[in-house]
Amino acid sequence: MVPRRVDRLTAGGRVGERPDYDAQNQFRMMRLGVFQMTDRLTVGQRSRLMARIRSKDTRPELAVRSILHRLGFRFRLHRRDLPGTPDIVMPGRSAVVFVHGCFWHGHRCKVGKMPKSRVAYWEAKIAANRARDARVRRKLRGLGWKVVVVRECELGHLDALRVRLARELGVHRVKACI
Ligand SMILES: [Zn+2]
Repeated sequence: MVPRRVDRLTAGGRVGERPDYDAQNQFRMMRLGVFQMTDRLTVGQRSRLMARIRSKDTRPELAVRSILHRLGFRFRLHRRDLPGTPDIVMPGRSAVVFVHGCFWHGHRCKVGKMPKSRVAYWEAKIAANRARDARVRRKLRGLGWKVVVVRECELGHLDALRVRLARELGVHRVKACI
């Protein structure tokens, strides 16, 4: 079988790719010094490469950190020694926070809706992500961690998110902290 080549990753990109995610990935790759965008890789090679580029310090994640900071929490980031490398770890509260992109983690909301093409491909991929998420949460809870998941779409309602995080992480006087 002749491997299909990826012609473009940006500006409309491949059929079934979401342009906004492509733009984000391009930015990450540029930070990592991967400038070759007009692609010599096959689809499979590109896919494996992209999978290795961790989505770190994304905009939703920075927004959540900012809320937690203003609530007075101290935290550490991306602890690799814990299952799933949680985005935010609060050892003092025995709590971890994941900030999940709605699309990749299969949230059925406006933000996370499926592309109209290559549906089976994306559904399989996202189902695998969800299964892994569930496994990671189970492991962390088994180790005594409280697991809080923030979804990307919640960033559209910052006040509600702030109240939820404060409640779930055990701050009682929310108003005083905002
Ligand atoms: Zn969502």
